[in-house]
Amino acid sequence: MKISSLFRKEVLAMSAYKVADATGLVKLDAMENPYSWPEDIKAKWLEALKDCPLNRYPDPEAGHLTATIKRLNQIPDQFDVLLGNGSDEIIQLLLMALPSNASVLTPDPGFVMYKQLSLCLGLDYHAIPLLADSFDLDLPAMLDAIEKHQPSVIFLAYPNNPTGNLFSEASIRKIIKAAKGLVVIDEAYAPFADASFIDSLGQYDNLLVMRTVSKLGLAGLRLGYIAGMPDIIEQLHKIRLPYNINSLTQISADFALSNKALFDQQTQQICAERSVVFNRLNALDGITVYPSAANFILFRTPENRATEIFASIKQQGVLIKNLSPQGGLLADCLRVTVGKPEENEAFLAALSRSLAAS
Ligand SMILES: *Cc1c(COP(=O)(O)O)cnc(C)c1O
Repeated sequence: MKISSLFRKEVLAMSAYKVADATGLVKLDAMENPYSWPEDIKAKWLEALKDCPLNRYPDPEAGHLTATIKRLNQIPDQFDVLLGNGSDEIIQLLLMALPSNASVLTPDPGFVMYKQLSLCLGLDYHAIPLLADSFDLDLPAMLDAIEKHQPSVIFLAYPNNPTGNLFSEASIRKIIKAAKGLVVIDEAYAPFADASFIDSLGQYDNLLVMRTVSKLGLAGLRLGYIAGMPDIIEQLHKIRLPYNINSLTQISADFALSNKALFDQQTQQICAERSVVFNRLNALDGITVYPSAANFILFRTPENRATEIFASIKQQGVLIKNLSPQGGLLADCLRVTVGKPEENEAFLAALSRSLAAS
């Protein structure tokens, strides 16, 4: 049997999405919320799960959870919502629905799954460099690329991962207007940002807004959602698997999201710690730190030292993310997720020692 003749060439050319092993380490690599729940809330959650009929298929429409999500995100009734097994699945569904020769446009550096999933499906993927100084959109370059490639979908993460900044709102609006295809505003970090395009859904018929509960504090549930015009969302419903949101996720997410006050308190704590970490990084000799509207911070290390510093921090028990191997604007860059105060202290101490060691 010849594996190479069985699979599409795009699949053969890919490598699997690798997740670093964090066993025994302070985990500041994956934008997770570091806080768990108080015992009384855990007890209520278990109570809510107790009578879940695991012998039955889940509600195929996840009707109750969808209503909760629409209400909490103030998504007006005239728009429809599709839930996904993480927003990653929604990106995949959207791309799967495109013609095989369709093109996809996104700024670079950006979220890795846009590229991974586009290439896997053999789509015509274009990444337009962000401005080097600010990581903002290069508007003329984006508009040129729209004109030239006529992308079926444009992905804009707002705030952007891995840079953490919010792109200029005026630039985004010009892009939405210029685009003949869909524009997905990926608001994965909405809980930490004071900005959103949800209120703009009614202004553009090609606009979709996507969010996830992962960064909010429910990464283990795998739940994302996208809102937009019903005639667009309907196409995605056709190609999703019938029971893509399992029963435990439906009940748990509905329960958790109803405890909004708890998450509000946790996200406020994370945002306060983000300022602390930002200021401390800013005060370190040799470190350039970039402003963040998300729950992580990107920073630049002295030239050609990122990988060594990353390894040294890990050696000291803290796992962050090394982006330097991706090169381009990310050369010499590391990314740290904002954790609990003591975790951030451990990270800052480890970084200071690594910087001193040479
Ligand atoms: C983390 C992240 C996602 C993926 O979220 P899931 O719902 O966990 O799949 C999507 N977009 C961006 C920009 C992200 O950083």
